[in-house]
Amino acid sequence: MTQPKTPGELRYPSIFSPLKIGNITVRNRLMQTAHAKGFASAEGLTNDRDIHYQAERAKGGIGLIVTGARHTHPASTGPNRSLARGNRQEMIERDAEMVNAVHAFGARIIAQLIHFGPQGRSGALDDYRVQWGPSTMKSPAYNEWAKEMTKAEMDEVSEHFALTALNAKAAGFDGVELHYSHGYLHQQFLSFVYNKRTDEYGGSLDNIVRFPIETMQRVRDAVGPDFVVGIRVSLDECTVDGMHADTAIQMTRKMVETGLIDYVSATAGTYAAHADQIPPGDYPENWLVDDGARLRASLREVSDIPVFIVGHIVDPEKAEALVASGATDMVAMTRTQIADPEFCNKLREGREDEINHCIRCNQACIARLMAGNAISCVVNPAAGREQRFGLHTLKPAETPGNWLVVGGGPAGMKAALTLRQRGHLVTLVEKDDRLGGLLNLAARLPRRHKFGFIPRDLERQLRKAGVEIRLNCAMSADDVVAFGADGVLLATGSTPLKTAFTSTRPAVDRVPGTEQDNVLSVVEALEDPARVGKRVVLFDEDGGRYALGTAEYLLDRGHQVHLVSRFIALAPNLALTLDLPVNYQHVFRKGLQYTLNSWVRSIDGKRAQLLNLFTDENGESLEADTFIIAAGHSPHDALYRALQGRVQNLHCIGDARLPRPLQDTLYEGMLAGRELLDDPNRFIEQGELEGFGADWRTAMGAPVG
Ligand code: SF4
Repeated sequence: MTQPKTPGELRYPSIFSPLKIGNITVRNRLMQTAHAKGFASAEGLTNDRDIHYQAERAKGGIGLIVTGARHTHPASTGPNRSLARGNRQEMIERDAEMVNAVHAFGARIIAQLIHFGPQGRSGALDDYRVQWGPSTMKSPAYNEWAKEMTKAEMDEVSEHFALTALNAKAAGFDGVELHYSHGYLHQQFLSFVYNKRTDEYGGSLDNIVRFPIETMQRVRDAVGPDFVVGIRVSLDECTVDGMHADTAIQMTRKMVETGLIDYVSATAGTYAAHADQIPPGDYPENWLVDDGARLRASLREVSDIPVFIVGHIVDPEKAEALVASGATDMVAMTRTQIADPEFCNKLREGREDEINHCIRCNQACIARLMAGNAISCVVNPAAGREQRFGLHTLKPAETPGNWLVVGGGPAGMKAALTLRQRGHLVTLVEKDDRLGGLLNLAARLPRRHKFGFIPRDLERQLRKAGVEIRLNCAMSADDVVAFGADGVLLATGSTPLKTAFTSTRPAVDRVPGTEQDNVLSVVEALEDPARVGKRVVLFDEDGGRYALGTAEYLLDRGHQVHLVSRFIALAPNLALTLDLPVNYQHVFRKGLQYTLNSWVRSIDGKRAQLLNLFTDENGESLEADTFIIAAGHSPHDALYRALQGRVQNLHCIGDARLPRPLQDTLYEGMLAGRELLDDPNRFIEQGELEGFGADWRTAMGAPVG
């Protein structure tokens, strides 16, 4: 009997239609592309953490998952030891477990195969390995040189791709994807920028596709005709004089014309344009889809294989339109899946108001990876920690009670929602007229409006779940006592510091002159821009968007801004979140002046005396109408201290406990909502999630079979 269509299937009929790829059928048109996760494995084997991570998203309704890239050859090193080694025989058993887990929840899974080529580190493993590339050239990734490969080495790589593809087939994967993008080995062969060869593998379009086609041929010969083989290509190198879509389309068409592959997945960027691989929120939405549509139209002239596209596609309406119009066959929404593994189910079931949207911050996914940690997510603290905090782990409270949460910032909202989801009655009070706290200010900064998604999404869910929300409600200690809750969470936020304290000069508690009326905190400047004079000097002890975004916000309003940074580079923290290049472009074009390695010795009227942090000698003397301090916050915990001993089951969370990055406070909100703040087992011990042999089937409630 035909099942009636769900609200999502009616609203998004193209997205929720199946797609045939080679000999497999995928249940819908939403996919998760390959991405590194940093789930440590010294052995290079798929571990329980990765299995639970992927299974969670399969359970959440995604159609197609492509695994993180797995090495195919010993000379492929990567940045560290976290990547899987698909060429190891022991991998088959471990990967079979991942495949079973994903299949158990109805999704398809394809293994991505890679040779890192010049984008690895010679010393990433326990020895030193020569990096291989099409030509002898320096890599933008780790500033190392790669040697030009011989023909024998190229044959060896193709053979290892074939052997690794056979391993993937033995493990039960639905196919393999050959990584021909993002500046890795094969993409460099496909690039006139990196491929300087004068033999039959360089110099012309026919020549640059030769080695990638040889690898495709070896893989196809190994796996046979009834196993999906796809390629991922860069449509645009996004570098000056690099390859753009016209050339990329011609080149891809030549590879497709061989008839060796079953799909093309299009992306962009190389390591010389790293941000274009994983664009921060500063990039426009759907920025690659026009080129993707041109690619598909061109390939349609020679083949009917499907084409997949990525590129900051976040809106389901847009995704539906792209599939319906034939611009693409599948839409990749990867960070969307990290942020909410149930995205697809919620969409299909008409529960869009329960979706936690990715805010494109790159703070807990990419930045953690770049720092050598496992990925997680700001808006989804369970990401990467599914064994501890996945959907199946949220259990009803043993003794449902009546909770009071004071403070409607991110920590308070997250805690209130989690408490409610576990069956408690919850009242959330907020002294202001809206929820969100400092997020509302963060969302005012240039190109940061998506930070407003967090309070919007959480408020929708809080109201839907039945949390009582009281706005414009400041509570005293007596009010809290009189409320008589079974448990109280205080998430009362923080107070911005205006002392110009810097950790580089810890003996100076307060810089003279910072008590003047023309010295403002970032919060004061954003809340009341009318207080900011024409000429501004902004002191940056933050190193991120808090300071640089405020500078640009003021530049946009006609102020002259001189940023004085205690760091050795302008906003250095943006390197990890990949939004440094695009923000540099904006502030440089808008005329930002800046001084590095410096701090303020004193402020006197409209003059600030700078000092060099390395020599302690006086530097410039800057004149301004307003001085703005971006130097952190102190906990606003007066209510917590006033309630000590007066209320049972009292906790202080979020910035009120200690001002920290957003991902820390939302994680703590989740812990508080699960009543784990004081649990002796609340810490995830090193390696705890990355073992082998955990019973995901029972834990996650997989269907039997
Ligand atoms: Fe999106 Fe930020 Fe989560 Fe990354 S950390 S998935 S960018 S919300």
